[in-house]
Formats: sequence, C-alpha cells, structure tokens
Amino acid sequence: QKWVYSFGDGSSEGHSGMRNLLGGKGANLAEMSNLGLPVPPGFTITTELCTYYYANGRQYPAELKIQAAAALATVEKIVGKVFGDATNPLLVSVRSGARASMPGMMDTVLNLGLNDATVEGLAKLSGDGRFAYDSYRRFIQMYSNVVLDIDHHHFEEILDRHKDEKGHSLDTDLSADDWQEVVADYKAEVQRTLGRDFPQDPHEQLWGAIGAVFASWMNQRAIVYRRLHEIPESWGTAVNIQAMVFGNMGQDCATGVAFTRDPSTGENIFYGEYLINAQGEDVVAGIRTPQQITVQGKIANHSTLPAMEESMPQVFAELAAVRDKLERHFRDVQDIEFTVQSGKLYMLQTRSGKRTAEAALKIAVDMANEGLITQEEAIQRVEPRSLDQLLHPRLDPNAPRNLLTRGLPASPGAAYGRVVFSADAAEDLASKGEAVILVRIETSPEDIHGMHAAKGILTTRGGMTSHAAVVARGMGRPCVAGAGEVRIDYAAGTLSLRGTIVKLGDYITLDGSTGEVFVGQVPTLQPKLSGSFATLMGWADAKRTMKVRTNAETPLDARTAREFGAEGIGLCRTEHMFFDADRIIAVREMIMADDEAGRRAALAKILPMQRSDFVELFTIMAGLPVTIRLLDPPLHEFLPHTDAEMQEVAVASGKDLAFVKARGAALHESNPMLGHRGCRLGVTYPEIYEMQARAIFEAVVEVQKTSGATVEPEVMIPLVATRKELDLLKAVIDRVAGEVSAASGVKLTYLVGTMIELPRAALQAGKIAESADFFSFGTNDLTQTTFGLSRDDAGSFLQSYLRQGILEEDPFVSLDQEGVGELVQIAAERGRKTRPDLKLGICGEHGGDPASIAFCQKVGLNYVSCSPYRVPIARLAAAQAAL
Ligand code: ADP
Ligand code: MG
Ligand code: MG
Repeated sequence: QKWVYSFGDGSSEGHSGMRNLLGGKGANLAEMSNLGLPVPPGFTITTELCTYYYANGRQYPAELKIQAAAALATVEKIVGKVFGDATNPLLVSVRSGARASMPGMMDTVLNLGLNDATVEGLAKLSGDGRFAYDSYRRFIQMYSNVVLDIDHHHFEEILDRHKDEKGHSLDTDLSADDWQEVVADYKAEVQRTLGRDFPQDPHEQLWGAIGAVFASWMNQRAIVYRRLHEIPESWGTAVNIQAMVFGNMGQDCATGVAFTRDPSTGENIFYGEYLINAQGEDVVAGIRTPQQITVQGKIANHSTLPAMEESMPQVFAELAAVRDKLERHFRDVQDIEFTVQSGKLYMLQTRSGKRTAEAALKIAVDMANEGLITQEEAIQRVEPRSLDQLLHPRLDPNAPRNLLTRGLPASPGAAYGRVVFSADAAEDLASKGEAVILVRIETSPEDIHGMHAAKGILTTRGGMTSHAAVVARGMGRPCVAGAGEVRIDYAAGTLSLRGTIVKLGDYITLDGSTGEVFVGQVPTLQPKLSGSFATLMGWADAKRTMKVRTNAETPLDARTAREFGAEGIGLCRTEHMFFDADRIIAVREMIMADDEAGRRAALAKILPMQRSDFVELFTIMAGLPVTIRLLDPPLHEFLPHTDAEMQEVAVASGKDLAFVKARGAALHESNPMLGHRGCRLGVTYPEIYEMQARAIFEAVVEVQKTSGATVEPEVMIPLVATRKELDLLKAVIDRVAGEVSAASGVKLTYLVGTMIELPRAALQAGKIAESADFFSFGTNDLTQTTFGLSRDDAGSFLQSYLRQGILEEDPFVSLDQEGVGELVQIAAERGRKTRPDLKLGICGEHGGDPASIAFCQKVGLNYVSCSPYRVPIARLAAAQAAL
C-alpha cells in the first residue's frame, strides 16, 4: 500500500481533491506545487497510516520506512542537501494536518535535523553562526516541548537569564556566541529533566516527531475538540515532512501570513502581515510588531513601518501574482502562509479563509460579479443564519464597554436603554421618547406591550425557548435570557450583581447575539440592507420556488417584514390584538360573561377595534395574501389577576366582584394548553369566531372600497382534530361572509383552512382536506403534541437530553424531521390526494430555520412563514433548498 505522497519541484503525487487521504495541509501543498508555485519539497504520510497505527497496537507497517526513505531521498535530490550530513545538512519541518483544521493536534516542529555537528555545517554554509545557533535553539525548544513534553517556560527562563546577564533586550541582540551558550544550557535542561541527552540522531528526531503527531490524535485536547465539532475519530491525521526554508537568515528574509481579501469586510484588498528576519510562528506569537503587506494596509492600520510593497517590491509583486493565481484556482478567499529566504518567495500553506458574515456576503457577490463563481455558488456560500448578525444593530466593536454579566443569547441584536422593571413602566417611559430595557425575572403574555415598547429585554430566568426569548425573536428585539447571576429587587427597583447596583432609570446595554450585558451605554451600529445584501437576496429570490411569508400582527411588524421582503402574512395571531390596554377590559368582560347575550354585548365592543386592526394590516400588505388565525389561546390567559383588575371588569360588565371571582375560578384549567382553546372555543362560543369573521370581511370591504386593491383573506382555524370541527366553524364563517357581502354589495373571495398541529389532524388530513382550502403546519404545537412535551417546561430537562445525545437539536428550534416531520409529510400527501391544489405552508418557529426550510422544500410546501427578522434568512435558505 502507498503510505507516502511526495510534493515539490512543480509536481506532486497528490492534489487538493485528496484531502481525506492527505489532510487539508498536505492536499493543498500538493496542489500549490502542481500549480507551479514555489513550494519547498516534501512528502505527506497519509491519514490511513494513522488509522493503521491505532488498529495495530501503535505499530507502523513495514513498508512505511522504506517509502519515507525514498521520499526523503527525492527531497534531498531536489534541494541538493543531505539529511544528517555534517557539511551540507537538509533540515525539515514536521507538520500535522487533519482533514479539518484541528487545534489540539501536535504543533509544528521546525529545523529538524539539527545537532551538534549539522549546526556547524549550517553555520558554514550560510556564513552566519548567529542564524545557525538561533535555529538550533529554536529546534531544541520546540522539539522538547512538543515531542519530549518538557514545558517551554523552562527554556524561556534560561533565555531571559541570558539576556539579563548580557544586558540584551531583544532576541535579535544575541550574537552567535550568546546563542551557543543558550543551546548548551537548553541541552543541559533536557538532560536534567529526562535523564538522557537531547537526541542527536536526525532519524531518531524525525521518527520521534512523526510518532508525536500520530500520538497527538488521541490526546485529551484533540478528543474533546473532535467531540465538540463532531469530527469522527476514524478520520485520522496526516503528517507533512517538508524541506525548511529560512526567514531568519538576515534582512532580505521574512515570514508572513495573508488573506487574499480582507476577511472582516470582504473588501477586495490584499491583507496581511510579515516580519523581517523571523521564523515560523513569530508573526502570530506577537514577539515584534509585524509590518503590513500593502501600502493600503499600512495606512488602514496606522503603521509607521514600511509595507512589503515598499521594502521588498519584487517579492511583493511575486506574492501578489500568487494571490491572484490561488484565488482563480480555488475560486475562494485564501488564507496563506509564506516565507522569504534571501529574497526568494516560498509558499508554505493555503486554505480557504475564515471570514465574518459581512465579508462572506460581499465576497460571494463580488466573486460572482468577477465571474470567478456562478450566482448559484454565491447563494450557496453564505450561511443563511449568519445574516442574523447583519440584520440587527450591533455593538460598535471599537467602543469601550463594561461587562456586567452574561446570559443566554436569546434574540440577536444590540440595544441600550434605561432600566425599567415592569411592562407598564416600559410603555410609559418609551412614550416619552426614552430608550428602555425591560428587565424581568421572567415575562408572560401580559408583558407584551412592555416588550414592544422596550429596545431590549433582559430576564434572569428561562432558556432559549422561554416566553421572553420566543416573543423577543418574533419582535426582533434583542434579548438576553436566563442571566441567573443577576438579582432583581422589584420593590427596591434595582438589579445587582456582586456589589454592582443598577437602579431604575440607569442605562444598560444588551448584546442579544452574545448574551452579554453591559453597564452604561455602548454605542451601536445600524445594519445596511443595500449593496451586496440586496444583490444576493435578488439572486436568491430568482432561484427559490417556495414563497416566504411572515408571522405578524402589528403594523410595525408587518411593515418591517415587507422591508425584509415578505410576500404576505402566513400567521396573524389575533389574540395578540386583544392584550392592548384599551381592549383587554372588553375581552375580559366577554370571557367573564356567563351567557351568550353577555358575550355578544362584550364582543360588540371589540368588533370595531378588531376591524380597524385588519384594515390597517390589509392596507400595509396591499393585496399580498394574509392568513388570519382565529382566537387560539385558552381563555384563562386573559383572566384578570389582581383585585383591582377584577374590579375593573366587574364595573365594565355590571356584575359584582364576587361574581367575577367565582367565574375566574370556574374557568381555571389544569392543563390549559391541552384544554379549552383553539377551535374548541369556536365550537362552544361560536359568537367569538363570528365576530372575528365579521371584522375580517368588513375590513376587506372597507379596504377594497377605499383603495381599489383586492384583498383575499385566508381564514385559519386553529387546533382542529376532526373534519367535523372544521365543517361546523367553516359554516359560521361562510354565513358571516354571505351576510357582509349582501349588506355591502361587495363580492368576497376568501379561503378557509386549518392549522395542522395535532397528530390526529395530520393522520386524518385526507378527510380534513375535503373541507379545507389550505393547511398551515403549526409545528410549535405539533412538536409539543407529538413529543407530548410542553415547550414552557422543557427548559428544565432539554439541555440534558441534548448533552446526552438523546436529541441532536432542540426540536423547537429545528424541526424533528424524523418524527414530527413524518407527520408533516403524511398530512401533505394525504391532503393533496384529496385536493391536489391544496395550499400548504408552515408557520411555526421552524419556518425561519434553514434545515427545517430545506425539509419544507422536500415535502413540497408552497410557502414558509417566519418572524419578520428571519424573512431574509428564509429567502436565502429557500433558495439554497431549491438549488
Ligand atoms: P499550523 O497548522 O499551526 O499553522 P504549520 O504546520 O502551518 O502549523 O506551521 C506553522 C508555521 O511554521 C508556518 O506558518 C510556517 O511559517 C512555519 N513552517 C512550517 N514548515 C516550514 C518550512 N518547511 N520552512 C519554513 N517554515 C515552515
Ligand atoms: Mg499553518
Ligand atoms: Mg398552535
């Protein structure tokens, strides 16, 4: 079997497609060599060898040494030096390289092959004893550290002692003699700790380093890293052995790293740093201040040192040509490492460069415009989720900040404001034009108005799916949830943490993308929705086949969603319209009524308010489809709690307090989410749905008359389990439509459909479709009812399910495709069998989750609907799903 692949001298046995066998580094070294780039020659021992090594009791196959010796001989021939030769020594680096970049693996060893004899040869050959002994001491330190496991601080102490004694401050101040003394002390240190000499035999050094790379595959750091990043153990790592080139041989030598484009902005400028007369990791280690590659970079970084463009113009020109060639070849931004030896450029690594979300977007669009990639590829290159970072205000990265605590990053974006501790106070202060942050132990549906008024929300209890988190994401408000270290004292009006006390009205800043909470105001930057963002979205829209709608009920949300490109409303939750201060009393009056007449009287008060809600919404959506869900939550969510609230209701309905209290007790349910809610309300109190239908149709008439636009509402009935429920309620809606039509003389077109959010409904979808014009998958409830799991209570144990791998992901965040997904699929198939033109959509939180969106595409849904701020994510994800 072939265990060893050579590269260098303009050709290679491998190429970039052999990443699995050669590791990322080895495959790309081979590829660069094939491209004719100046790569020091070397060879790669394959990842298969790593697998063999562990499968065979940490033994190498017999052929390995033979193949490696042959490859080494080839390297010797190319560079004209001999490994271990005292007069003309070849030195090599030993570099690990897994398929995926993996911190935790063995660090690179440079200058391997040096010993007491070859160092003399190197000194003569280079005419520079200083350089030779500097290289030797680097080697002893690196090798001792990564192969012999001797902590490097021992060596640093020795070096520091030398510098102090000789009065040197920089490493470069040391002479050949100084380094020779350091080397002697280093070797003594190795002898002292290990009880044996530092290995002098270059072959022993080489196999020691190779063995250390393979052994590091199973060290604790690597194992943990693999587990966290789901990298299988079976992948193994490769080892690269490569002829050394020296960036530390004088002033015409250098080493550096660069990105072919700016990885933070995506700007098409060459971006990088280098150090003159330095080796390997000196640049990253921050020993000296690095210099910029380009003049442009020099200006941007306020650097006073000359750029490479100025100090080494010829090498720079060569490097710029390499940059161009690599980008054209790999068709992506590259992160490169290079070294200059005596004015000659060598390439040591290239890989695809990590970048910010903003840069990813700009680079994808620019590269498509430059013809380097296609529009389809550009669409695929941007992670939809990463758009989240771009759509919300974020903290000015340069602004000073004072961290108070860290909670869960529950809803992205950044905001500052004055601290308030109640929803009413939030509304109050916000109405005076102040920015406020609502701080609560936890939130409930009654806090919605305060959450709306606030710029951000902070809670000390609850997880990523707590009320605060879900509602804040829906509204696009930044939210930090579950900041458990913080103590809130509502009575005193303070929040405190270890001696820091923030009082009512003081400023705090939230970063909902990181979960950080800061004391005081940290300035924020507004998102830009033009430029590359708009271009890529346009391309995505042209490719996708599913529509993207939004979940919205307030005019603000509807407008925001339209700006983000929503093509209609997929879910308008009418109950959210009931909580506003001016209507909650009438709503409570309706609930408290103990007969139909009482309910109708209260509903009559709500009708005009509800109608004007719809007029506004239809006007904003200007003819786009709007799906309105009739009242869904258990009535008990609207009940008055305090005596004052009950008194208010008593007065409004002309009853006494005792009656209101008794009625409240009667409405109490032990499992309200499985209780008297959804269409069950419509079945028992049809007058409620009747009022809502009337509000909808009268609003349609009004908008059509005033604006001339056609409005075709989609009336949606929640929590249907049987076809009969739907039939009964559809009859109510049709009757009201007929009445409104007759009274106004306007012909009404509308759809009546249902949510599919109960397993029974999914299974009976064939029958239900006989009466439904459309289905909308309410996957939040469908997940709860399929798992028999309450979203509000799952926080306490879900983490442990995820940790133990029982669930791979929070099923409320990403659709459980296997279980809940099967029900969706069954319902889609059975529904369409009955009614081929059945319109299908999804309106749960999953409608904004890229993996779930891909699933929706597969099942053949017509649209997804998600919260306004997720609309762009859904547009891009839907395009990726369609490609
Ligand atoms: P990492 O994966 O941590 O980046 P590398 O194997 O790329 O480790 O090595 C780190 C640095 O060592 C490189 O950036 C390069 O500067 C230096 N290096 C590695 N091999 C050689 C070599 N053959 N000649 C000169 N420098 C080398
Ligand atoms: Mg590297
Ligand atoms: Mg539901």
